[in-house]
Amino acid sequence: MARAIRLARLGLFTTDPNPRVGCVLVRTGEVVGEGYHRRAGEPHAERNALTAAGGQARGATAYVTLEPCCRQGKTPPCTEGLLTAGVRRVVAAMVDPNPLVAGRGLETLKAAGVAVQVGVLAAEARALNPGFIKRMSQGLPYVRCKLAASLDGRTAMASGESKWITSEPARRDVQRLRARSSAILTGIGTLLADDPALDLRLGAEELPGMRPGEQIRQPLRVLIDSRLRTPANARMLGLPGTTLIACPEGQAPSDVMRLEAAGAQVYVCAGREGRVDLASLLRDLARREINEVLVEAGPTLAGAFLEAGLVDELVLYLAPHIMGDAARGLFRLPGLERMQDRIELTIRDLRMVGPDLRITAVPVEAARG
Ligand code: NAP
Repeated sequence: MARAIRLARLGLFTTDPNPRVGCVLVRTGEVVGEGYHRRAGEPHAERNALTAAGGQARGATAYVTLEPCCRQGKTPPCTEGLLTAGVRRVVAAMVDPNPLVAGRGLETLKAAGVAVQVGVLAAEARALNPGFIKRMSQGLPYVRCKLAASLDGRTAMASGESKWITSEPARRDVQRLRARSSAILTGIGTLLADDPALDLRLGAEELPGMRPGEQIRQPLRVLIDSRLRTPANARMLGLPGTTLIACPEGQAPSDVMRLEAAGAQVYVCAGREGRVDLASLLRDLARREINEVLVEAGPTLAGAFLEAGLVDELVLYLAPHIMGDAARGLFRLPGLERMQDRIELTIRDLRMVGPDLRITAVPVEAARG
């Protein structure tokens, strides 16, 4: 199963909106075939492993990181492929969170006399697909919020000047976070201050699992701008890929036309007190098959996402310098006044990226009350 999980990781940058899945076929203690899912519309991991094994799949055990599918999608059901090939036992790391499968694949195999086991290396398998799992089970994408700060937690000088806080290796690391994301989201404050491109600038050869020269998918760019203040010459509007400008209804038609002419898609969504309703926007994004969202916003929007309990993971890059207490902080949380209201986190990972420190942390749900 560990091998199947490593194979699944080769699809990290390509399977979206499908899950990353790996499969290894073993017969009498020997690997007879293996495979992983590369792209939506292309064969699933089980099919690729069966093709590699050929006749040797008869009597084999299939180790697969996600329950095999049992319905006709863009490709035929994997349960059918495993049965036709004569696989005798299937070990799945986890049940498919897709309500259309949710255990039915394993039931189909059991009913046909295949021995079935589930739950081997389940945590590792879940970590492959946080977005797909959350979208399927809760109708929301997985939200990762990335921020760069000085060691004293400052993100911009009082003047707004903020380029560059972190090192080149840290910024390349952020490119990899972008590459695995379905969408990158920011706020109008950041756009007006920095005019960011929010694009993916890595070559395929820099992303493990991608083939040299292979076309790289630009994640959807989502800009929250409730009064359509975006200038028509904003950098991200002229780049390859799609920029969605989210706003509540009631915008001047001339602004909508101005931004659509500049290349944006203006997306009217539910509002709340004259602003975009963040939770409802995330639900809309999940309906568009967005699995993982990378929030790269300033302290106002990052604070709003955190306060609303909409952040699943924080990735903080801390550079070895001090910007002083007049500089701006990481999260604007105006309602947070007492120690008991602190947002508690659990640190999941800590490492150096070039000269900078990268901290990955997750909010402790229960602590929010
Ligand atoms: P921001 O957080 O990027 O965007 C603020 C906008 O987000 C608000 O004006 C509002 O848009 C929307 N928003 C905020 N709270 C909301 C809520 N509860 N519901 C719905 N929409 C909400 O801007 P900022 O705080 O001014 O930050 C900009 C600064 O951050 C710049 O200096 C930039 O350089 C810096 N920055 C630093 C990093 C870093 O990692 N260090 C990253 C990005 C930006 P409307 O006004 O349209 O309602």
